[in-house]
Amino acid sequence: MQGSLTIARVWGIPIGLHFSWFLVFGLISWSLAGGYFPEKYPGWPVTTYALVGAAASLLFFGSVLVHELGHSWVALRNAIPIRSLTLFVFGGIAQIGRDPGSPGVEFRIAIAGPLTSLGLAGLFGTAWLLTRDVAVVAAPMIWLARINLTLALFNLIPGFPLDGGRVFRAVVWRWTGSFHQATQVASVTGQIVAFGFIGLGVLTVLRGNVLGGVWMAFIGWFLQNAAAASYAQASLRELLSGVTVAHAMTRDCPRVAGDLPLDRLVQEEVLGKGRRCFLIADDGHLRGLLTLHEVKAVPRERWGQVRVDEIMTRPDRLTTVTPQEDLLGALAKMDDANVAQMPVVAGDELLGMLSREQVLHYVRVRAELGI
Ligand SMILES: [Zn+2]
Repeated sequence: MQGSLTIARVWGIPIGLHFSWFLVFGLISWSLAGGYFPEKYPGWPVTTYALVGAAASLLFFGSVLVHELGHSWVALRNAIPIRSLTLFVFGGIAQIGRDPGSPGVEFRIAIAGPLTSLGLAGLFGTAWLLTRDVAVVAAPMIWLARINLTLALFNLIPGFPLDGGRVFRAVVWRWTGSFHQATQVASVTGQIVAFGFIGLGVLTVLRGNVLGGVWMAFIGWFLQNAAAASYAQASLRELLSGVTVAHAMTRDCPRVAGDLPLDRLVQEEVLGKGRRCFLIADDGHLRGLLTLHEVKAVPRERWGQVRVDEIMTRPDRLTTVTPQEDLLGALAKMDDANVAQMPVVAGDELLGMLSREQVLHYVRVRAELGI
């Protein structure tokens, strides 16, 4: 997520804090230390309230993180990569590398989060039972038990993309056998739930609880956006279903000789023809791929001495696709390898190139023509 700071890695997954997190962390600590705890447990020194408030707030975000790790653990066990975990204003978000392969996997990944939160609620509840005589410890524990229980229940609301919505999608998927259709049904249901939140928020404001109402409407607005985005994604899938790499690749991609020095490449091909990516091939066999990225890594004064084949990426380190692969799968592959283009090959014969830009162009033209 943009605007976030990576603070740690768990199971190889980068954990990020979005800048909005700091704001919410401050707000929660402050409202606990300045309102909730003094009201319920009067008579402590001010510094104790501050410390207990900050500790409870930290443990709350720790709980959100563990909830997300619950999803991630099940995903990883099912060979689904998790690109990153980010904590932000509404809690946590896990960037899942690809769609779950089956309704069963989807169901297990989705339910793992709320179950983790329920487990945490139990743990904090037990801690509260054991420390009831020490109020400064027991007070945050019972608060954390309640908030984790709330988190579990809130996430079980069947509004996609909440966990409950994903559970719902898995059920529809199993029932209809179509992932696309299930996503569409779940997204529409998600939007209805979101509008429900907004309506309830407005009602709450009218009844006099302004802050609570605005907050509820805000959550509804956020859910509505997320559901609409999922719907758009599902439509893209629909649009691209059955489309293969062969439809969107270019066959006339520029090939250059391996012994070409970089200064001539830049002069003739990059500046002259506006190209950014080159294939190095010997009578049809792929020897390597070169992009502006590698060129930029060489200091400018050495461009006269360095040859193209000295800095190209060799085939064994390249991610390639075949023309028969479906376009969505190819896009996921590009995402996983973090590249903007891939050579299209059949065996060791080079057929062309596929770039993100081309895929976007292809999608736009299809949508424009209403195909
Ligand atoms: Zn979750």
